[in-house]
Parts: sequence; C-alpha cells; structure tokens
Amino acid sequence: MDGGDGCRNPRHPAEVTLAARPWPTRAAAWLRAAGTDLARLVLPVECPGCGLPDVLLCAACAGRLAGPPRRCETGVPRLDRMDGHPPPPVWALTAYAGPVRGVVVAWKDGGRADLTRVLVGAVERAAADLAPVLADAGGLRVVPVPTSAAARRRRGADLVRALADGAARGLVAGGVPAAVAPVLRHRTRRRVDQVGLGSRARARNTAGAVVVRPQAAARSGPPGAPVLLVDDVVTTGSTLEACRRALEAEGVRVLGALVLAATPSPRGEVVPGGVGDR
Ligand SMILES: [Zn+2]
Repeated sequence: MDGGDGCRNPRHPAEVTLAARPWPTRAAAWLRAAGTDLARLVLPVECPGCGLPDVLLCAACAGRLAGPPRRCETGVPRLDRMDGHPPPPVWALTAYAGPVRGVVVAWKDGGRADLTRVLVGAVERAAADLAPVLADAGGLRVVPVPTSAAARRRRGADLVRALADGAARGLVAGGVPAAVAPVLRHRTRRRVDQVGLGSRARARNTAGAVVVRPQAAARSGPPGAPVLLVDDVVTTGSTLEACRRALEAEGVRVLGALVLAATPSPRGEVVPGGVGDR
C-alpha cells in the first residue's frame, strides 16, 4: 500500500522490474529492448545455424524454415500403431539436421528467446499452407504437446504452446476455424530424461506418460472437434504417439501433427510427399 499519496510513479513499471534483476540480465534485457543494432555492438551475436557473425538469424538459415510442410510419418519409427491402421500424418517444416538443429537448440536451451517470433511465424505460414488439406474437418482444436514444468521454468516460457498459437492463427488465416486447446499434461510420476535413451527405451519411458486434463478439455473448443497436435521436434515419435493414445482414449479424433522439424530417418526419408498428401 502506498497510502494514496502519489509518491509512486506509475509511468515506469518496467524500471521496477529491471531493477529487481541482476545486472547482466538487466543490461541484456535493456540492450535487446533498445534495438539489435545497439545490442550487436556490445553483445556478440551470431546466427545459431551457421555461426555467421552479427546477425540474429541469417537469411539462408531462416530460408530452411520457409518451405511448405511435408509429410514425414513414414520415417518416424514409433508412430506404428500395431493395429493395422496407418500412422497419422505428421507434417514437418524441415529436417532436424545441420543448421536447423543449431537454431532449435539455441532457441530451446541457449537463451535465444528472440527466435520465438521467427519460428512461430514459420509454423503460422505452414499451418496456413496446410489449411486446405484439413478443411474437411470443419473446426479444429490445436493441441500443444505438453512441456514439463521443469522445462517451462528453465526456458521462461512454454515454447510449444507458442508454436500452437501460431498454428491456430495460420489455420484461421487459411479459412479453417481453429482454437488452441492445451488439454494434455504429463502424468506426474517421475519421468526419466530422454537424453541418451535409444528409441525403444524412449517408447517405454513415454508410454502412458501423457494424460488429458478433463477440465481443460471441457473448456476448450467444441466437444468432438478433431485435434491437430503441435510439437517442436519429432524424433522417434513416441511422445506424439503417447499424446494420440491419450486423446483417442477419451474419444477424441487426432487428424495428425504439425512439427517444426523432424529427425531424418536412417533411410534419409525426411520429407517424402507433399502438403496435399493425406
Ligand atoms: Zn545462418
């Protein structure tokens, strides 16, 4: 309480926030806010894809995300359903390899939150490209693959949720009614970190690891509307498969998934087929 004596200046709330943070963070935040040209003079930046100095992301590396989304599910091993049905379609903007890997790692774990705008924009464009293929569905719920609370804290944001927001905007721009529905969460049992696990161990680790949040599901979108899953990177597909199973167990139809990047299969099947393939 300030007693209403007017001694607090409401015009500078940002200064209060910055002053509460340690100096290097404060300086970096201010410099970024002041403009990248100034930041570039003081804080060295380089393209996280290729290392080109003095750019936040070079045109060549950005261009790798500019293409239309391509089907990639045949190269994702853990999407096999073992019930005779084909795996759901997975559309990827690009292969998770080379410069793209550097960009995604910098974005997720290298403190390059400034890349969110670019990557979300790429997913938004891709979803607009995909809209004609998904138009038959009527309306869609766009469900982000859940991020663990620890990862959210470490990154300061739910990056996959940001991609899902972009995907929903892109679908709407493409004429398909869509709304983000964050209806999945990790089961609260302890989950082993995926790093260093082979594909079979990953599948065991993630089976049943995702559950539907009933209250969120009831609040989000028209009941019965099918789902498009969104994730950043698909590697083995075991996480997407856990999400599909959790949703279908609740009677929700999963049309497929849109991901930023897909790990190339051993046969190099990164991007077979085109956007119109179903
Ligand atoms: Zn580059």
